[in-house]
Amino acid sequence: MSARSIADEAKGGRGVLTGPSGPGSHDSGAREPSESSLLAPEFETALDEECKTRAPAIRRPLHPAEHASCDVVVIGAGPAGAISALLLARSGLSVRLVERKRFPRRKVCGACLSEAAVGALRAIGLGDVLRDAVPLSSFRLASRGRSASVPLRGGCVLSRTEFDAALVAEAMNVGASFEDGVTAEVGPSEQTARVVTLHATHRDAASAERKLHAHVVVFAAGLAGTAFRHDPELRSRPTKLAHVGAGAEMPSASDFYTPGTIFMATHRAGYVGLTRTEDGALNIAAALDARFVSAEGSLGAAAAKIVRQAGFPNEGLAELDWTGTPPLTRQPASVSADRLFLVGDAAGYVEPFTGEGMGWAIAAATALAPIASAASREWSPALIDTWTSHYRRSIGRRQRVCRFLARGLRSPLLVTAAIGVLRPFPAAAAPVLRHLAAS
Ligand SMILES: Cc1cc2nc3c(=O)[nH]c(=O)nc-3n(C[C@H](O)[C@H](O)[C@H](O)COP(=O)(O)OP(=O)(O)OC[C@H]3O[C@@H](n4cnc5c(N)ncnc54)[C@H](O)[C@@H]3O)c2cc1C
Repeated sequence: MSARSIADEAKGGRGVLTGPSGPGSHDSGAREPSESSLLAPEFETALDEECKTRAPAIRRPLHPAEHASCDVVVIGAGPAGAISALLLARSGLSVRLVERKRFPRRKVCGACLSEAAVGALRAIGLGDVLRDAVPLSSFRLASRGRSASVPLRGGCVLSRTEFDAALVAEAMNVGASFEDGVTAEVGPSEQTARVVTLHATHRDAASAERKLHAHVVVFAAGLAGTAFRHDPELRSRPTKLAHVGAGAEMPSASDFYTPGTIFMATHRAGYVGLTRTEDGALNIAAALDARFVSAEGSLGAAAAKIVRQAGFPNEGLAELDWTGTPPLTRQPASVSADRLFLVGDAAGYVEPFTGEGMGWAIAAATALAPIASAASREWSPALIDTWTSHYRRSIGRRQRVCRFLARGLRSPLLVTAAIGVLRPFPAAAAPVLRHLAAS
């Protein structure tokens, strides 16, 4: 199946999403665990229901006996998982990519790909998935009714519904099998394999629970991080005062929000980024202090207040269908264990202000591929250290810079001072932008 047909389905078209196991039956689906399942119930929204009405997934569930073992199981079909699956399948391995939600799915994200992320995609031959993306030309930072614009280049915006579905289609095109609607739990190592248990999240699945054996497991399940009963050191824990994420989409919004600009409203209690995606909708993504959300009564009310106080239009924002995430900034004690590698947000994440999460996920998946490929062909415990030290050196270093910038954003004084400098001298942001583009 082509990337285009999954992407068409993502837009609500009539494409049929099938894995290598063939075409299938209609999803009558039970409710899946939501992205916000670690938050208080009042933050949860019906994201999964919305996905179903926009784009029904059609498939045949795998028979329990099919593909009981393979070289690699990749858990999670975000950018880290889809790119890992693609690169490992390209290297000739049998790869199973499994995903908890039904695809195409929405994801809380600013949907901005940095220049570095675009370059990393092109370097692995995936530049074409960005053909519908909106080029980014400016970043407008606002606080307390004042704002300053900084020119941007090389980055773009593409909705996660479209982007992630296109990456999965590319992985399937090179032979990876894909199954959604299953939650994976990583089990113990048994001789030459890791055991992964798949729990169906839909009533029409062939069986409620199945086991897979894989030489190697790539864990790319984002912020979820709760799937390790046997390796507690791999569970990521949020840092104190970590913000929670929140996202919503507005199909038609004020003309004030021009395509190609990231509008960033900042406040002591968090920040809200607003950007037009390829279909003209306004994508809204926020990182918020959970106590502020509780005080305001809802994710939407909290985000709308920040946008209004920054001086941007906020009509209708509070009433949108908002989805929350678990606390954002987090780190597991380890990023690798016996026959198991963590990649993407699952390996550690910091607040998304600089819009680098997808870039890190792409870079890390690309760096992991040769290590996981070697591990699948012949396991060696030394590969645990290889991945850990590579990860800490490259991605960990980049995340430290973002942590520093995100902390600065929590100070209205600092942001106001930055706006004061950037208004007359937008070029003053060049060193930071250069650093981010290069990272
Ligand atoms: C508010 C906000 C704004 C952001 N803005 C930007 C931005 O503008 N630019 C940018 O580059 N980054 C941004 N990010 C960060 C970006 O979204 C992430 O860094 C990126 O999605 C990480 O990719 P991933 O593949 O590691 O994880 P994800 O994209 O989260 O994918 C993980 C997948 O695993 C699935 N999964 C989870 N548990 C299981 C399980 N047990 N079994 C099977 N599947 C499972 C999930 O359903 C999900 O589909 C933002 C994040 C937030 C919260």
